[in-house]
Amino acid sequence: MNQLFEFIPRTKIAYGVERYLQIGKDVKTISQDTKAVLITDKGILDNGLADLVVSALEREKIAVKVFSDVQSDPTAASIDEAANVIRQFEAKCVIGLGGGSAMDVAKMASLIAGGEKGAMHYALMANPFPKKQVKSIMIPTTSGTGAEVTSTVVFSDEHKRKVWGWDEKMAPDLAIVDPTFTVALPRFLTAATTLDALVHAIEACAGKRSNPFIEAFSLQAIQLIGENFEKVLQTPDDLEARGKLALAATLAGMAIEQGGTGIAHCIGHALGTIGRIHHGRAVAIALNAVYSWNVESAVDIHAKIARCLGVDCQGLSNKELALAGAKEFSRLVEISGLKQSLEDEGLSLCDVDRFIETMLSPENEPMRLNNCRLATEKDLRQFAEQILSANKEVSHQA
Ligand SMILES: [Zn+2]
Repeated sequence: MNQLFEFIPRTKIAYGVERYLQIGKDVKTISQDTKAVLITDKGILDNGLADLVVSALEREKIAVKVFSDVQSDPTAASIDEAANVIRQFEAKCVIGLGGGSAMDVAKMASLIAGGEKGAMHYALMANPFPKKQVKSIMIPTTSGTGAEVTSTVVFSDEHKRKVWGWDEKMAPDLAIVDPTFTVALPRFLTAATTLDALVHAIEACAGKRSNPFIEAFSLQAIQLIGENFEKVLQTPDDLEARGKLALAATLAGMAIEQGGTGIAHCIGHALGTIGRIHHGRAVAIALNAVYSWNVESAVDIHAKIARCLGVDCQGLSNKELALAGAKEFSRLVEISGLKQSLEDEGLSLCDVDRFIETMLSPENEPMRLNNCRLATEKDLRQFAEQILSANKEVSHQA
């Protein structure tokens, strides 16, 4: 082992059923203040989860301002609006409650609220972020993005192009991982977000920047998902299994925070741009298309992944085991019920060139380059054709 690396966890993690009840004390400890802006979306407001947090805050006499205008695939404009609310309320603490979208808006808005510029000024590292003046606490309501422990956010510009922002100061100060908030998640979102977490774990430990710490976090996440994904699909209110998926998503988030993602995220973000495909579904479709191709250049790590997914390894060579992992991944995508055909979204082989162009664009380049195997334009064409020709009836064979 002669590789140089650092492993820097940036976010304190608090786990437990009903751990959210202590959030008032958390706000005071972290920000030394008694004001907070809660950033969430309309769905979370309507299903009563936001009220749980507001009541817990009010019990500790924290003044709360709620901003709930977060859409799925958030825009730069929505981040700017949230930042204005934080500035006007003069809050020193922001709470992000929701899936990746709400947490990304909360993370980016809390950081840029310390300056005067809008989100696009900082996109793709065009300019340095201002000094951090507002602390942030995240409560995920999905077990997927890992945004509660990462320094990255993803949002769209005015042309619906997906861009990202990164700064280590953007990593939240505290992540409250509480299965209370994921137990009512509908099936589609449970399936799509869990597969996103699984793809994170696989891509981080197979990627170019992997190291033994990343591998430890990733493999533990993969095992937890392997053991609990079907359980949760069958029994959605199994709080223990939900808790394990929530932990898996956070572990996988810590793995990508250090190791980044790979080609499935390059392809997945491109699908988000050209077809508005849900991120979790997009990366699941993408990894399913490239998994065996990836195995060719990184057999040993894919054999470990297969073991953690629960593949029976008896009598198999490492290569056979690694490829059996690809089959198991395919099976998980199939039982998730997520459609692999993109016909309903209006995508077809006519979109191949536009798809490849988006994969090769600067915002998707880091993920392509971090993958365990370098995809050339020719490889990308093959993936694009395979993904866009997945037929509705036989989509599970794609
Ligand atoms: Zn992802």
